[in-house]
Amino acid sequence: MSRVAFLGLGAMGSRMAVRLMEAGHDLTVWNRSPERAAPLEEKGAKAAATPREAAGGAEFVIAMVRDDDASREVWEGADGALGSMGEGAIALEMSTVTAGRARAFASAAKAAGAVPIDAPVSGSRPQAEAGELVILAGGRQADVERAKPLLLAMGKSVEHAGPIGAGATAKLLVNAALGTQVAMMAELLSLGAKLGLEPEKTLDLLSATPWASPAAKTAGGLMVKRSFDPLFPVELVAKDLGYAAGASEEAKTPIIDAARALFEDAEANGLAAENMSAVVKRYEAG
Ligand code: NAP
Repeated sequence: MSRVAFLGLGAMGSRMAVRLMEAGHDLTVWNRSPERAAPLEEKGAKAAATPREAAGGAEFVIAMVRDDDASREVWEGADGALGSMGEGAIALEMSTVTAGRARAFASAAKAAGAVPIDAPVSGSRPQAEAGELVILAGGRQADVERAKPLLLAMGKSVEHAGPIGAGATAKLLVNAALGTQVAMMAELLSLGAKLGLEPEKTLDLLSATPWASPAAKTAGGLMVKRSFDPLFPVELVAKDLGYAAGASEEAKTPIIDAARALFEDAEANGLAAENMSAVVKRYEAG
């Protein structure tokens, strides 16, 4: 079993850290708001005061934080993990960040003697809790293989996407597909209602056709049931659609741009912390 430092104990990170503990790894945790470490400490993890302190002596250091800025802070900040990582230790950036940020993280990690992998995850809180995330890894094949046993304590598969940054790119494509489908489902339920179809009926009809993906059906079901408790909150979908829309100067992204505008509108209108299914409420607003 390995010595692991885990940075970022939000909705996803706290669940992933528990999986690692249950697999028998020796865990040191850190979170910007220290009170979030308490439940992990109760389960036997050590809590550190800074990312730098957490990373000292660890064979693997994992970050699962909000965005590019948070990633920069926990790895390269004044008390960042790269300040204390040992030669050859593996640095895993599992947050959803831009490919540019993943590459900058990797350069800084290499300069510090660490081995970088970007490994964002597909799946939400229930999959994190059950260890059923799909992990999209970027980095050298041999390094990804070295990290695989650890990653498989948190996920059901590890997909090697390519070199550093490819994991982040894959993740942004996946979330662009998710965000646009959720937006489309909200729009179709609303359009159907205006045309005289009950939302339940619209969902049943769409679900009977090849159009509806498992994710679209799940989101549609939550919209119909008026279930908006956060799983994947509106604000994080808006962030990821923004990252996807800005990922390439050459690429045309009118569909991603439209979904992004819808999610940003929802974010600006009090729905930031609600589940992504809550975008349907923007179609009901006057
Ligand atoms: P979350 O519950 O909002 O937690 C965010 C974490 O980031 C918290 O630990 C927070 O610390 C930390 N953080 C934010 N800004 C920071 C900063 N400047 N410096 C240091 N730490 C900072 O988010 P989450 O749902 O766990 O998501 C984590 C990552 O996974 C995100 O990149 C997200 O896009 C991605 N993701 C989420 C889902 C999902 O369904 N939720 C699914 C797949 C991937 P505090 O506790 O101090 O605020």
